[in-house]
Amino acid sequence: MRPFVYSRVATAEQAVARAAVPADTVESATRAPAQFLAGGTNVVDYFKLACWDAVELVDINDLRDEHGAIEARPDGIRFGALVGMRQAAEDPDVVRDYPVIAEALRQSASQQIRNVGTLAGNVLQRTRCGYFRDVDYDECNKRAPGSGCAAIGGPNRGHAVLGVGDRCIASYPGDLAPALVALDARVETLGPRGGRTFPLRTLHTGAERPEVETILAPGELITGFLVPAGPHTRRSTYVKVRDRESYEFGLATAAVALDLAPDGIVRDARIALGGGLTYRPWRADAAEGSLRDQPLTEETAAAAGRLALEGAVTHGDNDYLPELGARTVARALLRAARMVDVT
Ligand SMILES: Cc1cc2nc3c(=O)[nH]c(=O)nc-3n(C[C@H](O)[C@H](O)[C@H](O)COP(=O)(O)OP(=O)(O)OC[C@H]3O[C@@H](n4cnc5c(N)ncnc54)[C@H](O)[C@@H]3O)c2cc1C
Repeated sequence: MRPFVYSRVATAEQAVARAAVPADTVESATRAPAQFLAGGTNVVDYFKLACWDAVELVDINDLRDEHGAIEARPDGIRFGALVGMRQAAEDPDVVRDYPVIAEALRQSASQQIRNVGTLAGNVLQRTRCGYFRDVDYDECNKRAPGSGCAAIGGPNRGHAVLGVGDRCIASYPGDLAPALVALDARVETLGPRGGRTFPLRTLHTGAERPEVETILAPGELITGFLVPAGPHTRRSTYVKVRDRESYEFGLATAAVALDLAPDGIVRDARIALGGGLTYRPWRADAAEGSLRDQPLTEETAAAAGRLALEGAVTHGDNDYLPELGARTVARALLRAARMVDVT
């Protein structure tokens, strides 16, 4: 483990001031010298592995009183950034009205990690790509831009097939972000230039610049997530396919939400992918469009699944993923369609 500076702050403003850098010296939060410490289950892990070049941890746990609450409102539900994974998974409003969020969190990591991990930390966790985590590999464009990608041509069974490029095929591992993306969640932040909100689906950046990862500026603190209410949120679910049923990252995951007319015709469908399949949390717009004004049947669900994986690029060991992903989407859609007592 590399030596690092530890600091602790009492307010969001102090956190931003502590982690900010002089203007235009570092382009993204991922590359910033100071990182926020929430539950610490990802950032401390990666500091130990020395795969992260940051040199300071700014402890934000004293912000839990101000940014650790769940607020159910008529227009949606707001999560403070420091809401715990377990807290959100067990919240009665979340379980009843936004089940895809509760299910995604319940299938994440272990109860011990859910006890300390936070929602913002979960959304911002970095890839589990073995070549990124193991600094003995020289080729990793995420760690060392321009060095190459050892996963392309190496063992890559768990590497992504959507959103990948010739510089990086690492998969996004988090379960919460796809659920939030499916529900059109917005991110609220406080940064060196003030506050802003933006759609969560724009938070993570693409594989052309593997070392960047998000649009957050150095020192920009996530303060919360806002999930809009809608007729689809109660009929929502999360399917996660993995090598073992517990304490394991996904190989293929799908978050879906449906608004069905009384005769079963789809008024609105939302489909997001992640966990293994995709480079970043991924919304399957074309697949959603194919379902509108159609009945939700095994055939339409299977066709939507295939559309969701259209354009997948495989690299040998992960050739099986497009088929698995398509079936995962179809399974999630059919499960959501069969949910009862959701209106
Ligand atoms: C063995 C193991 C298995 C796991 N399995 C799963 C799984 O199946 N599914 C899954 O989704 N996850 C899984 N995880 C990951 C785990 O859920 C995450 O490590 C955890 O959610 C991160 O939350 P944290 O609060 O500990 O984040 P931290 O480690 O404290 O922070 C993570 C990152 O987020 C940044 N950050 C944190 N809060 C903020 C904020 N408010 N504003 C801006 N930046 C912030 C930090 O600076 C850091 O860069 C697993 C982890 C382990 C170790």
